[in-house]
Amino acid sequence: MKDALPGIRHGSATDIGLVRDIQQDAYLVRPPLFAVADGMGGHSAGDVASKLALQVMSEEELEDEESLRVAVRRANDAIFAKAASDPSLSGMGTTITAMLARPGSARIAHVGDSRAYLLRDGDFQAITEDHTVVGRMVRQGRLTAEEAARHPQRSVLERALGVGEELVVDVFERRVLPGDRVLLCTDGLTALVDDQTITEVLSSESNPETAATSLVRLAVNAGGLDNVTAIVIDYPDDGGSPRKRKRRLWIPAGIGGVLAGTIVAVITALAGSWFVGIDDQRVAVFRGVPGSFAGVDLHRVAFVSEIPVTQLSDFNRNRLRDGIRANGEAEARRIVENLTELQEDNAGRTAP
Ligand code: MG
Repeated sequence: MKDALPGIRHGSATDIGLVRDIQQDAYLVRPPLFAVADGMGGHSAGDVASKLALQVMSEEELEDEESLRVAVRRANDAIFAKAASDPSLSGMGTTITAMLARPGSARIAHVGDSRAYLLRDGDFQAITEDHTVVGRMVRQGRLTAEEAARHPQRSVLERALGVGEELVVDVFERRVLPGDRVLLCTDGLTALVDDQTITEVLSSESNPETAATSLVRLAVNAGGLDNVTAIVIDYPDDGGSPRKRKRRLWIPAGIGGVLAGTIVAVITALAGSWFVGIDDQRVAVFRGVPGSFAGVDLHRVAFVSEIPVTQLSDFNRNRLRDGIRANGEAEARRIVENLTELQEDNAGRTAP
């Protein structure tokens, strides 16, 4: 792990999300090595697997592509052996997407459905392939990317560390240019935030730490169904290239990164999310997500019902104050209908 790339900037963020009890994502930031790992397995086994994978990686002397491949295979051996020695860890495994930053290039080692992306002049492209059944079907032309994203078996992996003694590791070197930005992330981000939104955040937020934090926050606000982790790595800009001037045109001097981030967050929030909350003491359906960001509300009222919140139980009033997330407008309206029935029940009970 010698000679860290001079001038490289990076930021990272992770969150357990809103649904899972255990954080099974792990990440490693030890320039020039960066890695994310998404563990799987019962109880706490998944987090053992992802942490162990990154521990082994961090202890290896990494240089060329072969050394990356050897390191990932050693991580695989370590997880497989540990799972075999402890029945409570049986069946654990993990993905890994690791990057060794080199001057002018990124060396990538990858297994599973975490991803590496490259952003160059606003063009955002995955540089890893998902080792999933649906990922293979997309590459074979049997599914579209949109169908794959909604497929019920989209997270079924074809390859993972710790599952068997043999492991095929994707290892390759990708040329990078000054000013390029690399994103490493787990599927908790890509399953909930679309490519266009990720591109907007990465293009508008120049600070890598803030960019990573914004991405993770968007995934949590979009439902937080999974653990989510993002590492953003910026290759040093050469300072005076036309590429940099072009990028600066997108962000006028008067608009800071926070405001640009806010606009992106608002657009995203309004685009695909719904919740049921309170508007002027009545139950209402909102488009967006509860709360505000940098002083800007992340939602707009879509529909106000006839139900006064005063007719609901304390329990439901508190839920509404926090906002009850809905998977689309139809579900939001169903939640309102259910609350209407509860209100009638309440009225029935309290009526003389
Ligand atoms: Mg995951």
